[in-house]
Amino acid sequence: MRALITDSNGPRLTDSQPSPELGPTDALVRIERAGISSLDLAAIAGRVNHHGVLGHELVGTVERLGERLASSPLLGQLVVASPNIACGTCDLCRKGLSGHCRSRRVLGLLNHDGTLAQHVVLPARNLVALPAGVDPELAVLAPAVADAIHVAHLAPVERQTYVTVLGDGAGALLAAQILAKRNASVRLLGAREERFGLCERWRVRHRHIDEAGRRADQDVVVVCLEPETGPSLTGEHGLLTALGMLRPRGTLVLQGPPVPVEGLDLSFGGNLDRVIRDEIRVLGARSGRIAEGVQAIASGLVDLPPLITRRGKLDEGVSLLRAAAEPEQIRTVVEIAA
Ligand SMILES: [Zn+2]
Repeated sequence: MRALITDSNGPRLTDSQPSPELGPTDALVRIERAGISSLDLAAIAGRVNHHGVLGHELVGTVERLGERLASSPLLGQLVVASPNIACGTCDLCRKGLSGHCRSRRVLGLLNHDGTLAQHVVLPARNLVALPAGVDPELAVLAPAVADAIHVAHLAPVERQTYVTVLGDGAGALLAAQILAKRNASVRLLGAREERFGLCERWRVRHRHIDEAGRRADQDVVVVCLEPETGPSLTGEHGLLTALGMLRPRGTLVLQGPPVPVEGLDLSFGGNLDRVIRDEIRVLGARSGRIAEGVQAIASGLVDLPPLITRRGKLDEGVSLLRAAAEPEQIRTVVEIAA
């Protein structure tokens, strides 16, 4: 099959990627659209340890199901998928913590081929059918929306006066958009002024990171760590900025990618004393529930069209990856022909 792959020789299109094999509880999905995010750019730059088919987002049709799923209603359905693949048998999976499975794999990012290909095989339990009327192009972003909703579940923003989202990548923009619906005082601190127009569209307050005060008065600070985030928002500097803004007993939510990304090391280092002295509550956030992402898109909770800044076809995959690194690009959606 045709696929966009990466390895130590860099990204390239191939027509000879072997078709994946179907296990007894798997689904074979014919991919219709896939996304390119900053994580894929990190993968081709060698910042994520992944060789194989790229891509962790998809909209596609279930073409075949494993032998144990003969009566599943998923056959023929248009679906999206959670990129996190759990084994289903380890102690954590059995405890209901399958998102933290001991042998977790991630589509296109960790020990599993991705979605920038004509087909993918993954466990059928990872799939959610798209409700009628949902635009399949917008549904490509369902995992990103799910992650932002997960942040909103964790961040205690109701009845708080000061809430800051630090970051200006797609994840931060989505988190700010969703949190601002629950608390109008939510503001986004970013480094790219050209993205502030989106905040205005969504009535989210915004400021440049360099103009932000360090008055230690914020009730909640959400840090969205994405590979595209510039140096002023990541690493020790970003953490110090976030800690410097929080009031004593404030909450720091650290949202990050599902796999380690070189250069996104948010080490607490010498700052743990501040966490203890001011009794800061620190919450980690990674992946949300894909069904919640789909529901949010179907109900119109999130405004996604302005986040899709480029479209293309799989045949142009390598040049789409190159173009996705341009500063004005937020997300690229790739059409995949049968
Ligand atoms: Zn497991």
